[in-house]
Amino acid sequence: MVHAAGVRKSFGHLEVLNGIDLDVASGEVVVVLGPSGSGKSTFLRCINHLETIDGGSIHVDGELIGFRADGGRVRHLRKREITRQRREIGMVFQQFNLFPHLTVLQNIVEAPTGVRGEPAGKAREHARELLRRVGLEEKASAYPRQLSGGQQQRVAIARALAMRPKLMLFDEPTSALDPELVGEVLTTMKSLADDGLTMVVVTHEIGFAREVADRVVFMDAGLIVESGPPSKVLENPANPRTKAFLSKVL
Ligand code: ATP
Ligand code: MG
Repeated sequence: MVHAAGVRKSFGHLEVLNGIDLDVASGEVVVVLGPSGSGKSTFLRCINHLETIDGGSIHVDGELIGFRADGGRVRHLRKREITRQRREIGMVFQQFNLFPHLTVLQNIVEAPTGVRGEPAGKAREHARELLRRVGLEEKASAYPRQLSGGQQQRVAIARALAMRPKLMLFDEPTSALDPELVGEVLTTMKSLADDGLTMVVVTHEIGFAREVADRVVFMDAGLIVESGPPSKVLENPANPRTKAFLSKVL
């Protein structure tokens, strides 16, 4: 589903991604760990074309992100085509960014009806189904300010799913939550994983990684320095930097 090869990204003179190689199979859940500043968010943003890459390539579901082959040359995609590619990739951030003046249901149907041109009735029906999936059926007509942080984040997840993405990216989805609200969001994410959704999750929740991830990758200084099943990477890391990191967060 994701094929990243030699991905490089700099901000000015700062090299943030130094050649990232990562393959994610369809239905696979990959958890990305790593210290602050190692490039985790930047990498997710590159997959979603929120950042343009300086080298290497990223394919999602067989399609080159941001570029197209034109005879022997590779050309940048036009904005419209980039928008189309981005619609197929859902992203959930630390901050939920719901529209405060819209109800939960309106937040969820906004993109599918506005951007995707789905009929309103069908979009609402799908939104209700998604609210059931995230356990918030009864909150359809509530406003975001009437919800807890954990509930808001579950609405944000439902909103991303409303676009029927092939791939979901999560960037520290529980980091802004009070500790007692983290569990409900992780449970929701686990059920999506159980349903076979392809997910790349940046998180410091080691319990989630251990229980849900098919694979854990550890990033440091813009490189993936270790990758493997959670039992291996978390319990018996080979790389000294992984060891040092885990000894701090476990
Ligand atoms: P954290 O765990 O703190 O979220 P991270 O691994 O997600 O860290 P990134 O946010 O990807 O790290 O940042 C990697 C580096 O790139 C950092 O040094 C950051 O300051 C820098 N950086 C990120 N975005 C930009 C930007 N838009 N302009 C300049 N520098 C940036
Ligand atoms: Mg980050």
